[in-house]
Amino acid sequence: MSSALPGYEQAAAMVASHAARLVRLRPPLAVERVALPAAPGRVLARPLRADCDQPPFTRSTRDGFACRAAEASAHGFLPVVGATRAGDAPPGALPRGSAWEIMTGAPVPADADAVVMIEHVETSGEGVRLLPARKIASGDNVVAQGAQAHAGDELLPPGTAITFAQIALAAACGSSTLDVYRRPRVAVLATGDELVAVEAVPSPGQIRNSNAPMLAVLVAAAGGEPWVLPTAADNAQALNDALAEAAQADMMLISGGVSAGKFDLVEPALTRMGAKFHFTGVRIQPGKPLVFGEIPTGSSRGSQYEHGTKCFFGLPGNPVSSAVTFLLFGAPVVAALAGRLDGGPRFALARLAKTTDRHAKPGLTRFLPASCTFGGAPGEVPEVELVPWQGSGDLAALARSNCFLMIPEEKASLAEGEMVRILLF
Ligand code: AMP
Ligand code: MG
Repeated sequence: MSSALPGYEQAAAMVASHAARLVRLRPPLAVERVALPAAPGRVLARPLRADCDQPPFTRSTRDGFACRAAEASAHGFLPVVGATRAGDAPPGALPRGSAWEIMTGAPVPADADAVVMIEHVETSGEGVRLLPARKIASGDNVVAQGAQAHAGDELLPPGTAITFAQIALAAACGSSTLDVYRRPRVAVLATGDELVAVEAVPSPGQIRNSNAPMLAVLVAAAGGEPWVLPTAADNAQALNDALAEAAQADMMLISGGVSAGKFDLVEPALTRMGAKFHFTGVRIQPGKPLVFGEIPTGSSRGSQYEHGTKCFFGLPGNPVSSAVTFLLFGAPVVAALAGRLDGGPRFALARLAKTTDRHAKPGLTRFLPASCTFGGAPGEVPEVELVPWQGSGDLAALARSNCFLMIPEEKASLAEGEMVRILLF
């Protein structure tokens, strides 16, 4: 009965609270040291600290002339008594009533408190002067030593997901390696008698297993280490064996076999393993049959149930359903288990370019493949439009989209010009 199923928000809240509990109960994550080029996608395990002041010396942000702003503001000519380029050692003090030629990135002489841009001076035999139309104030075009950070400051906390910006910061601080958490191993188990390997030529009635490679990439992007298992057939014995293997991982993603069909045998197989189901469906479309729960593991079987469980998602097999449900619910759990501070789904607002034509009976929150244009004119709001699709098996439509348009459950459709929510991927 779909009315008994949680809605999107409720299911998301349930997933978040169970993820937080799983993180609380599990032992601390192991830490490993990786070289910077291997660090993107990993999660920082120890704080990154500034090894020295940032910037390490008071630095000019322009090519021009270091001066005392009060003196330059009189617009008289100041003799140029020295020059410093990037890489030169910091010069001594600036003599009173003078200017100092300086390049971008070069240390500013002591006692100079501003840099006049080269474009804003007039040069003569007597020196340089600030053009009468221009003004200069103390602090203009210089960044003081330590303005960004002081030696020893925590620049990044543990739990920070590492991308290009954190790599650059680490490099600036002299760290050629970073301490990161061991990634949680996430089993990816595709089920279905109709599935063949990517390399195989499907016989009539068969299709290639596209979910396993897709989910592996999504797991890695969320911060997990994907572990793709051999496809399991739709029978009890095969599922028992495959799930027993998958339970060796830190978390399980099972694709297919969770609908109400005669050969949807994943739930019974999980039940045989002692699974506790948090929900067995969500009022969303696509992805309604999504299953979320935990199985007891190892010594925790029976009485110590709470203290040794592994969570699983049974994702509906249709590829778009698998992608949506993983992004909405699976990725935040992977991120939490990976130790990330920021793991939630990434929603944004955009203007709907075209009224949605697929009217639906309200009651399900819909997440439909859509294309959002971000590169508009300055100040323009991103514009989003549905991508035509043939339903949740339409991988070509998914591959032409860059987000899912969220249609709230109380709406049959959304109108052109409305500000709408999109789930980015
Ligand atoms: P199921 O959830 O098992 O009922 O499958 C729903 C639909 O998704 C069926 O059309 C399946 O053939 C398809 N499907 C299931 N698993 C996969 C997979 N791993 N890759 C691609 N399509 C799949
Ligand atoms: Mg199936």
